Amino acid sequence: MKVMAQMAMVMNLDKCIGCHTCSVTCKQAWTNRAGTEYVWFNNVETRPGLGYPRGYEDQEKWQGGWKLGKNGKLTLKAGGRWKKLANIFSNPKLPSIDDYYEPWTYDYETLLNAPAQKHFPVARPISLISGKPMNVSWSANWDDNLGGSHENASRDVMLKGITDKVKLEFEQTFMFYLPRICEHCLNPSCAASCPSGAIYKRAEDGIVLVDQDKCRGWRMCVSGCPYKKVYFNHKTGKAEKCTFCYPRIEVGIPTVCSETCVGRLRYIGLVLYDADRVLEAASVEDDQDLYEAQRNVFLDPSDPAVQRAAELAGIPGDWVEAAKRSPVYALINRYKVALPLHPEYRTMPMVWYIPPLSPVVDVIADTGHDAEDKGNLFAAIDTLRIPVEYLANLFTAGDTKPVDAVLKKLAAMRSYMRDINLGRDPDESIPESVG
Ligand code: SF4
Ligand code: SF4
Repeated sequence: MKVMAQMAMVMNLDKCIGCHTCSVTCKQAWTNRAGTEYVWFNNVETRPGLGYPRGYEDQEKWQGGWKLGKNGKLTLKAGGRWKKLANIFSNPKLPSIDDYYEPWTYDYETLLNAPAQKHFPVARPISLISGKPMNVSWSANWDDNLGGSHENASRDVMLKGITDKVKLEFEQTFMFYLPRICEHCLNPSCAASCPSGAIYKRAEDGIVLVDQDKCRGWRMCVSGCPYKKVYFNHKTGKAEKCTFCYPRIEVGIPTVCSETCVGRLRYIGLVLYDADRVLEAASVEDDQDLYEAQRNVFLDPSDPAVQRAAELAGIPGDWVEAAKRSPVYALINRYKVALPLHPEYRTMPMVWYIPPLSPVVDVIADTGHDAEDKGNLFAAIDTLRIPVEYLANLFTAGDTKPVDAVLKKLAAMRSYMRDINLGRDPDESIPESVG
């Protein structure tokens, strides 16, 4: 066992209201400089939707010459070595500014100085890059307006072939928010793809950083990161990314996005993991086993054997104590309600998510009550507004069983709390299916 410490985050998606406070405060703190206008270290994307940058989950399209194999290793795609390298360097398959969005502001002059007319004048969008008025045709959260109800190509892509199981009728539309930062992966492909060795993972807490002095602007990290969480600053010619607010973490205060989150949905903390299990977990052959394998790299900080190994590895005792108090291990491993984002990318992401249960929409015909009353809730899981298959494609490489188990646990907790809040005796019995 080789114990290492890692900063990690769990986000509870049922609590996200899509206010973008996290994105804006992060931007004010970290990317309010020239060359980073389009950059959002933290973004909150609409689901179903294309995300930011547009369509980043289409790995075939964006990984260019890279392939993160089932052995968990980043390799060059098929073809002669030099041809492959030449292909990567001349064609790194970078998202364009249109895939991020061209940053724009409003031209208030048109609003303030417009002559009296029949219709109210509006402030026109004006490009922050060219300074000219522009026609905005797409932006990162425009999927909000689609709400999963439009039978369009983008939705088909995001549902990944499950449209036949989902009736696209208006009352069955669904939408939720997915806040994203860099995953500070245990097996970071951004670092593996950097020809300059500029990207490194800090040994003490696993935060992944770009050494600005070493970066030579190759942008291999942009195509190498499956989550598209490295950005190119076109003014400095260097790559930049989320730093997990390490200057704040080092003095014991949380990341800006966590501290300012309106929904209080971000749990951060230290976890201990077994570095010897990382490559093995990333190399699991069957996608269906990936979630379980990735969960199993975490070590129980209350286990005396783990504590002894941590001491031998030089991890300070108060860090182990911090890991014991951290909600991250509890949510991922003790309660098993948090799931990784796209474990099939095999980079071992360290930002996990409690999937949204959302409102349970069934109405019980004879009483008119909604399905959130106890007894009705578990029956209603199968008719959730958000298809379990959709969540499974995001969090468990398509395996619906773990998602189903998490949703049932969340439903049990919701039912229990509802009883308490209504002054009823809570039903403590847990149906066998919840586990
Ligand atoms: Fe690197 Fe991307 Fe993983 Fe962040 S999410 S550590 S940028 S591979
Ligand atoms: Fe969601 Fe919190 Fe960000 Fe608001 S601040 S969008 S609630 S993660």
